[in-house]
Amino acid sequence: MTAPAADSALVLFSGGQDSATCLAWALDRFAQVETLGFDYGQRHAVELACRAALRKGMAGLNPAWATRLGEDHTLDLPTLGSLSQTALTRDVEIAMGAEGLPNTFVPGRNLLFLTFAAALAYRRGIRHLVTGVCETDYSGYPDCRDDTIKALQVALNLGMERRFVLHTPLMWIDKAATWQLAQDLGGNALVSLIREESHSCYLGLRDTRHDWGYGCGRCPACELRAKGYARYAAGC
Ligand code: ZN
Repeated sequence: MTAPAADSALVLFSGGQDSATCLAWALDRFAQVETLGFDYGQRHAVELACRAALRKGMAGLNPAWATRLGEDHTLDLPTLGSLSQTALTRDVEIAMGAEGLPNTFVPGRNLLFLTFAAALAYRRGIRHLVTGVCETDYSGYPDCRDDTIKALQVALNLGMERRFVLHTPLMWIDKAATWQLAQDLGGNALVSLIREESHSCYLGLRDTRHDWGYGCGRCPACELRAKGYARYAAGC
């Protein structure tokens, strides 16, 4: 196996709308792009099954992307599931907690994800890490904040003696603009691929097809996705 090029990237790729858009963003910029997914016992583990279809679909959209798309990695993090008593990993109603955070918040999730991603990137000789965290149009998760990611970049570089660059292409855009970014990167074909094959629903439901894709239509992730798609579609 040849070593990845210096301008290679590792995309944290869950199979949701945001990370799918980030994968296209990375394929548009980097010579070699690898993907990483985590299995932590999430209720919406169906999103992990969407990853292969999205990767295959993106490679089929653009010959250059097909050349750039590299290995896929999956890491099991059952410890995260056993630590977290949240609505993402337990069969409980999604609601707001006393501290103002929804009970879908898995404490430290993105910190752990990025730390494991950096460890993998270190071993793979990859400098650029890409994650779909967003401060603009999200549920107030503190580990999605720009300051958190910037601080973590410093910590990872100090702790691993590397010059990783953490990219957050969605940090300051809302869900409608995320659909528009997909349109800009890959046209209607990419929007269609993400709509049909990506998964956002917290409950893991894919039995109902809406104009924005599959999901229960009622959980916070579905509501956010539906509203964003409606605004995006209205602007076209
Ligand atoms: Zn849902």
